[in-house]
Amino acid sequence: SAAAIEAGRRAYELDRSHVFHSWSAQESLTPMTVIDAEGSWIWDGEGNKLLDLTSQLVFTNAGHKHPKIIEAIKAQAEKLCTVAPQHANDARSEAARLITELLPDDINHVFFTNGGADANEHAVRMARLHTGRRKVFSAYRSYHGGTHLAVNLTGDPRRIASDDDAGVEHFLPAYTYRSYFNAADEAQEAERALNHLRDLVMLEGAGQTAAIILEAIPGTAGIYLPPPGYLQGVRELCDEHGIVLIIDEVMSGFGRAGKWFAHQHYGIEPDIVTFAKGVNSGYVPMGGVAMDDAIYATFAERAYPGGLTYSGHPLAAAAAVAAISAMREEGMVENALTLGEEVIGPRLAALKDRHPSVGDVRGVGMFWAIELVKDKETREPLASYGQTPAVMSELVAEARRRGVLPFMNMNRLHICPPLNTTAEELIFGIDVLDAVLDLADESIRG
Ligand code: PLP
Repeated sequence: SAAAIEAGRRAYELDRSHVFHSWSAQESLTPMTVIDAEGSWIWDGEGNKLLDLTSQLVFTNAGHKHPKIIEAIKAQAEKLCTVAPQHANDARSEAARLITELLPDDINHVFFTNGGADANEHAVRMARLHTGRRKVFSAYRSYHGGTHLAVNLTGDPRRIASDDDAGVEHFLPAYTYRSYFNAADEAQEAERALNHLRDLVMLEGAGQTAAIILEAIPGTAGIYLPPPGYLQGVRELCDEHGIVLIIDEVMSGFGRAGKWFAHQHYGIEPDIVTFAKGVNSGYVPMGGVAMDDAIYATFAERAYPGGLTYSGHPLAAAAAVAAISAMREEGMVENALTLGEEVIGPRLAALKDRHPSVGDVRGVGMFWAIELVKDKETREPLASYGQTPAVMSELVAEARRRGVLPFMNMNRLHICPPLNTTAEELIFGIDVLDAVLDLADESIRG
């Protein structure tokens, strides 16, 4: 409506006058105003309707304006809007029960946080206190959050400005398409990447190592699936040396990868799982650390030195209970797995065949990446590490003009729609990407 567009215009002006945005040179920004949203669709400041292939920042797993989640938040607000973390609260208790039910049998407790970064901070703190050791290993080409320790755990260009002595060692990940180990196939990649990690742990001191933290499927850094055997190998390495295995499911969890948690594709049991985002579709901020009984036992008689005013906030917890219940009732996780396999996978494969600029397509569930290259043979990325070439921005702008909002990171487009997106919507979205990828093809010609 005209009123909504006018309100959006004012929001934009005030944003530019007063709002400071994440990770950005402030004067370079032209943020898209969102004036409305429903299901897998959003409306921009001019009233244009866009298919949201980003799930915002990969968190609206149940889509926008899910009536059951909205109803639960309203009901909780009227009943008891907030309560201090030291009290017991039915919404929080039920959220913890539902979350642990989805995880391995020996994961029975949840420490709630405000988001993903603080979940990882607390997971590492717990691992350090549990083992009495300090070093933590995390992967390059990863993202674990923007706070002090979490950004140091992160292995992407955003870490570098805040690099600090946080007790973190980085290792090269298993990433078959861009193998650091000259691997010819996935089996070789798994074996060589594991040997590398095993060597680093030995050289840095296994007896000094508290934890290894890994995204089950790295998200922002490229949605590259671990080769078969890799995560099992990391699990064995941790078992051998009494190292805590922390699996970061902040982006990959809650159905994103077509299972409740992405690590469930790989048959491993983590000691700690961190989560946020999809736990309640991001309707109210919430993250958490789900820990196994051994970690819990460390803090059974000894105080855990950590806490948050809003740990397990009732509004967020009620939203989580409703989101998880709705995902179950409506088969959203199954929908993600099936449509990933039957619609997204084959269509992206065809798109790779058609476009010289598409080097790799990969993913599972509603969690996919298109990697753009200058040359399919050499696999030279369309943008060098940490850069976004102009053509990527043009491509996203053209997709928007055609009614689709994709996620962009360096030389990649990510397709991460809500889990209840339909086949027809996905086909529309991928057809638009197919058309706009001609721009990338043109940019590498000649
Ligand atoms: N871990 C992963 C895998 C993420 O993708 C993110 C956010 O994108 C985080 C941690 C940080 O979460 P938050 O931004 O809620 O602190």
